[in-house]
Amino acid sequence: MATIQDCIADATQRLRAAGSETARLDAELLLGWAVNVDRTALIAHRDAPVGADAQARFEAAVTRRAAGEPVAYIRGIKEFFGLAFAVDARALIPRPETEALVDLAVGEVMSRLAARPGEAGGGPGAGGDPIRIADIGTGSGAIAVALAVALRNRRVVMGRNVTIAATEVSPEALDLARENAVGHAAADGMRFIEADLFPPVLPDNGAPFDILLANLPYVQSDAIAGLPIATSFEPRLALDGGPDGLDVIRAVAERLPDVLTDDGVALFEIGADQGASGPAAVGAVLPGWRTSVEPDLARLPRVLRVERP
Ligand code: GLN
Repeated sequence: MATIQDCIADATQRLRAAGSETARLDAELLLGWAVNVDRTALIAHRDAPVGADAQARFEAAVTRRAAGEPVAYIRGIKEFFGLAFAVDARALIPRPETEALVDLAVGEVMSRLAARPGEAGGGPGAGGDPIRIADIGTGSGAIAVALAVALRNRRVVMGRNVTIAATEVSPEALDLARENAVGHAAADGMRFIEADLFPPVLPDNGAPFDILLANLPYVQSDAIAGLPIATSFEPRLALDGGPDGLDVIRAVAERLPDVLTDDGVALFEIGADQGASGPAAVGAVLPGWRTSVEPDLARLPRVLRVERP
């Protein structure tokens, strides 16, 4: 019977030949999925035999991966912000660089709560209306759900201190987002709205948002064909940002005067090459508004911050 080591070695070779740049990691993740243990356990038991059923499952998974399908879709799961998200072809796979957006959002919520006149005892249970957050184009729900879980871990009460409205134009993706929220018991204080960016009337009778988050499509249309083959399995709708990649961000920026509170902030994920074009595009739509760019962990431009003058 083949051992874990044999299976990984064979599959690594096959995937490398098929053009994967992460052949060994792919092989380990897929074998872990096939035998239902995590990767570290595999590495610790290299001589253990792999049963026939698991091996067949593994072979099928490796064949899919060799054809270019992303590992995350094959496993049906992707780690993001320390959480496991269900993922499939309904939505874009969460990327590690998007964690920068969640980090900034957590900081923004906590500083806003801290600045509020607290109830007796203080802490982020402060009184007043909830901080209203929007996640526009939520896709798998990764940003909204990760944020809700991170806030809960800081004793923020979802629904009372904070509400999150997650919008999505694709009903299939919105279902996935709901599934992820329920999967993390994070649906309290969260609303899922099927809408092309914004619904005709914002929730809570049109009240504006304090914090708007968005990882919108921002890839230039003619750059899509040159993306890694794995990306071709993801919804084009989630990637294609028009000729300069900034069409959808521009469309949301145009609405900011109506949908943001006076001291509201919008945080847009942008491409690493949009550190100058992103602010310029938003500045053209919103003359005088303040824009700045925050880096991700790789120190690449990643989040465009937009506020009123
Ligand atoms: N970072 C993604 C990519 O490079 C793009 C995601 C997006 O358009 N929001 O494939």
